[in-house]
Amino acid sequence: MKVEKMSRPNEGIKCVVNTCHYYMNGDHCAAKMIQVEPRNAHDTNETGCATFIPEAQA
Ligand code: SF4
Repeated sequence: MKVEKMSRPNEGIKCVVNTCHYYMNGDHCAAKMIQVEPRNAHDTNETGCATFIPEAQA
């Protein structure tokens, strides 16, 4: 899912995935919105950000 990358952090999100196209210094995310999956997850480890794009592929 390709979404707009803003020039400022999305203040509602803290993310440490520093290999993501949307990552900003300070553990911020600059994506306008993110999608978290999957439906019917049972614990934290099962969930992940589906908006993630590897920096190299952006
Ligand atoms: S898109 Fe997802 S993985 Fe990428 S910086 Fe934002 S929250 Fe983190």
